[in-house]
Amino acid sequence: MDGELMKMSFHLECIGCGSRYDPDQVIYTCRRCGDLLSVEFDLSDVPGNIEDAWRGRPLSVWRYRELLPVSTFERRVSLGEGGTSLNRCIRLSDKIGLKNLYVKNEGENPTGSFKDRGMTVGVTKALELGMVRVACASTGNTSASLAAYAARAGIECIVLIPSGKIAFGKLTQAIIHGAKVIQVKGNFDEALRIVRRICHTHRIYLLNSVNPFRLEGQKTAAFEIRDQLCGKVPDKIVIPVGNAGNISAYWKGFMELHKIGLIDDLPQMIGIQAEGAAPIANSLKKGLDFIEFVENPETVATAIRIGSPVNWKKAVRAIKESRGTVEKVSDKEILEAQRLLAQLEGIFVEPASAASIAGLIRLVNEGLIDKDETVVCILTGHGLKDPDIVVRQFARPIEVEATEEAVIDAIMRKEKIAVGVHYSM
Ligand SMILES: *Cc1c(COP(=O)(O)O)cnc(C)c1O
Ligand SMILES: [Zn+2]
Repeated sequence: MDGELMKMSFHLECIGCGSRYDPDQVIYTCRRCGDLLSVEFDLSDVPGNIEDAWRGRPLSVWRYRELLPVSTFERRVSLGEGGTSLNRCIRLSDKIGLKNLYVKNEGENPTGSFKDRGMTVGVTKALELGMVRVACASTGNTSASLAAYAARAGIECIVLIPSGKIAFGKLTQAIIHGAKVIQVKGNFDEALRIVRRICHTHRIYLLNSVNPFRLEGQKTAAFEIRDQLCGKVPDKIVIPVGNAGNISAYWKGFMELHKIGLIDDLPQMIGIQAEGAAPIANSLKKGLDFIEFVENPETVATAIRIGSPVNWKKAVRAIKESRGTVEKVSDKEILEAQRLLAQLEGIFVEPASAASIAGLIRLVNEGLIDKDETVVCILTGHGLKDPDIVVRQFARPIEVEATEEAVIDAIMRKEKIAVGVHYSM
């Protein structure tokens, strides 16, 4: 059976009214009630020995191809996504007061964020549907990823970004991959509203996370975590939340593993938002069962600077069904966590990713996470995407004459050289 593709049947299903749709039509939300759609596999078809097929393949998104909703595996649009490392963090755990802390470094993906897991499936799907133009609104990483995968597929890419509000590295990526980059004088939520309308009225395929096929690629990170922990499931998964697709995707991944009998336990899902962009955290803390959107979201963590998360319903379900929680953290806590991770573990992440560590620290301090629990924090994107934020906080390296004495003198000086000198903003 190794390498052989077992055909699993799947359809689109509305999470609100349960209406079913053919997965070969271009549709993003339910025609009857307007709610989100989800790809659902007939999991009773999954053979008991599916793991034998998986084991023979490298750790990656496509290792789990039987549970990915494409019918043209041979023509997949891939750059080698997934297979990211799961690092045990001894020094950071000691600092925080935990025993078993792991971080999944999604910054190792081809374009430097987890978005690649979704785009390899989403762009493959676009080709299957015969679409030759794709589009998204983006706080940065979605556009960087879509631009790369569209280039790989040889199709046109259009990205809408909020004017002046995306990290420089991400904008650079979209430009070099040849996307048509349009700056919108508004925030992410407004850009998304526009691109959703345009994709509805034109033959352009929408690849924001409202597209359920993207989340299917993203769910493979949950499969990888189980494999990397040798079949064990962590007690808690801590994830930064913006548009709320990723936390929903992880939960779906774990639920599928559970349904096909590959795991007995399920993790608790913990979402982390930035204080200035925390519609889900604020609403759940108030005990609401709907979400009050945030009009003008603001945070240094630009990747989660989102006030109206499209996938909020899926995320709230994931949090409630898993008996998890959602927490918010300040920009100061985020930047401090970013520095800790870089200096204690050698892992450089962008601010949004550090939100998961900042949230973890807060929850441990509040006694909501026990020191014996196994926790996996998701580090969503690479630090080099947003160097400005770092440069602004740290002192510039000292400069000396080009002599041995001057360098020795600098080494001996009491104050540390650049690294470790922390200036608050
Ligand atoms: C997209 C993104 C997020 C937020 O993910 P959602 O699925 O929108 O909740 C967090 N961190 C980084 C680095 C991202 O690129
Ligand atoms: Zn519906």
